[in-house]
Formats: sequence, C-alpha cells, structure tokens
Amino acid sequence: MVSMPESSAPPLDASVLPIPRDGIAGAAPYGAPQLEVEHALNVNENPFGPSPELAEAIGRSAAEAAAGLNRYPDREAIALRAELGEYLAAESGIPAPPAPSVWAANGSNEIMHQLLLAYGGPGRTALGFAPHYSMYPEYARDTYTRWVTAERGPAPDFALTAQSVVAAIAEQRPSIVVLTSPNNPTGTALDLDVVAAAATALRGSRGLLIVDEAYGEFRRDGVPSALTLLDEHPNLVVTRTMSKAFALAGARLGYLVADPAIVDTVRVVRLPYHLSAVTQVVARTALAHREELLGKVALLRSERDALAEHLGARGHDVAPSDANFVLFRTFADRDAVFEGLLERGVLVRAVGPAGWLRVSIGTTEDNSAFRAALEETDPR
Ligand SMILES: *Cc1c(COP(=O)(O)O)cnc(C)c1O
Repeated sequence: MVSMPESSAPPLDASVLPIPRDGIAGAAPYGAPQLEVEHALNVNENPFGPSPELAEAIGRSAAEAAAGLNRYPDREAIALRAELGEYLAAESGIPAPPAPSVWAANGSNEIMHQLLLAYGGPGRTALGFAPHYSMYPEYARDTYTRWVTAERGPAPDFALTAQSVVAAIAEQRPSIVVLTSPNNPTGTALDLDVVAAAATALRGSRGLLIVDEAYGEFRRDGVPSALTLLDEHPNLVVTRTMSKAFALAGARLGYLVADPAIVDTVRVVRLPYHLSAVTQVVARTALAHREELLGKVALLRSERDALAEHLGARGHDVAPSDANFVLFRTFADRDAVFEGLLERGVLVRAVGPAGWLRVSIGTTEDNSAFRAALEETDPR
C-alpha cells in the first residue's frame, strides 16, 4: 500500500487553469486513506492473500495472456461471464445465469457507473437510503443524475422496511433505486420482501432496482440473496464483486446479473475493451480456485460475530452485521478514538452517523490488536 504522493510542483496561478464543469470543480477524489499501518481495517478487504501456489497459478495465466497482448481482449468477456454465472449458482443455489445475463467490469464501482450512465442522466433521479456507501452520490454526479436519499431506520438496526422504501419511491419517483444488502457502512442485510416491494413499486414507472451485494458472501446462514428474485422481477439488477469475500480487490473485478436486455443496454455505454485480457484471465483463474480464496469466509464471519459480541459486552451500540465489518458507537469523540487507534497501528474508518466507527474484520491477530487498542483509547 502506498499513499498518493503530494504534488511537489510550485502552485500555479489558478486564473490560468481551465475551469472544470459544475460539480467537479473543487470536489475531492475518493479518499479512503492508504496508509502504511500494521492493521489496515478500513476498506473491508479480505486480509488473507492467495497462497504462493495460487499466486503462481495466477502469474502463469497472466504470462499466457501476455503473449497475446498485441491483440485487443475479448470485448464481451464471454468465458468469464459464463464462469461467474456458474459460481453464483453454486453460491446462492439459483440456476446458473448464462453469460448474456451476466456482465463484468473493473470492480463493481465501474458496474454501478455504467448502470447510472445507462439508466440515469439529466432529468432523472436515483434514490438511496442513508447511511449508504460513499460512492453512490459520485456516480450520480458524474452522470448528471439527481441523487436523493431517504433515511434508514434508527440505530442500531438501521433497518429498511417495505413500507418505508415504497413510500420513498412514491415521493421521489426515481428512475433508479439503489438498495445495498448487506449495507455498507451498517452491515444490515435486507429481507427479500423489501427488495420485492421496491421492484414492484418501480414497475409502474419502469424504474431500475439495483441491489448491491458487494458483501453477499458474508451474510449469515438463512439470509437469502436477491439473486433468487431475478426471475420474477425484470427490472432488478444484482451486483457483486470479487473485491471482498473473494480476496481479489487488487485485480478489480465486479459483475452484475440481470435480464439480458439490461446487460445489452449497459454494453452500449461501456468503453470498448474495458476489461483487459490480463484482468479476465486473472479473474478466471481465481474463480477456478474459489475454494481456496473463499476458504476464509467462515472464519471471517465467526470473527465478526465474536467482535460484535465483544463490543456489545463493552457496552457499545453495535449494528448487527452480515458483512465483514462492524459499525459501533464510540464512548469518546469518534475522531479522537480514530486517532488513538491509528497511533497504535490500527486504521479503521470514520463513516456512518456521527459518533460511530466502522472496523473491518482482519486476521485473528488484527482483531486482537484492535480490541487492545480500543481498550486503551475508548475506555468504558
Ligand atoms: C466495496 C464495495 C463495493 C465494491 O467495490 P469494487 O469496485 O468492486 O472494489 C461496492 N459496493 C459497496 C457497497 C462496497 O462497500
């Protein structure tokens, strides 16, 4: 991990620089700090990297692709999309979505950007539920889409109900609704009746429902995936990523499943050859070794449950989590706790409502270091 070097150029006279468009001028880029710390628990990565053997296998497949890098990659990434569909069938018990129902891009961030390009735009509204993932308003800004929010339910559950979601849709008349399950930063998973009610409410206005399941693989037993609703709701898109449970954040691979007509619409706005031959082959090799890469998910889930219980026992308010992080309310000022943790080599994220911090689940060692540091910086 490296931080962005600060520019060393002497400051330019701003009056000679071109003026960026509205919304971009003065805006800051996405900025979760990338610091050299012993315990990076701030961006919900899987702390377990590939084994040396798997790293070798990934390297070999990249080398094979390298021999053909004079040619453009498969623009449609057909083999990868079919294999992603097969993985989802194994993961969620749905019949394997065929390649035309699956779409892949450079992270689910790019997937979401493409969806907003295709279904948002001037005069259109996208609706989300706060607290939400920090990037959603930025996809909207980039695509000239109006971003509006309704509030999730009260802490510590931050629940959404079918009634509250349907009411917000009736009020805002959005072209796009984004539901996140499990939600970032709260960890809350959605009941399928909420997803189904949203899809039904949007049908009359022919709006799109996106369910962002970036953390889907971490959900607790018995919590269903919105993938199981795809058959009944042609306006539903479910997005996933290989960045979290799949331990492949560095490769940049996100994907969606939807009606093939939605995939075809997204194909109109994607940039040509957006998914490099190296990315495609690395993702396919990772999928072929999914037992290893996903092998630590069970451990991460039990560490999550243990940490949530520990925080609750200390007296913190804790949001029940189906993801690989826990959001909790600090006793002292959250920024002071954040800094105190950082001084002890533990980097967490100050997101969510005022007074709350989010900590990603790391290795057992990371999690112990976090507990010890919290004991010192945020005493009961
Ligand atoms: C991490 C995250 C993503 C995934 O981003 P990638 O671009 O796939 O790395 C998507 N949605 C949410 C809510 C996230 O927290």
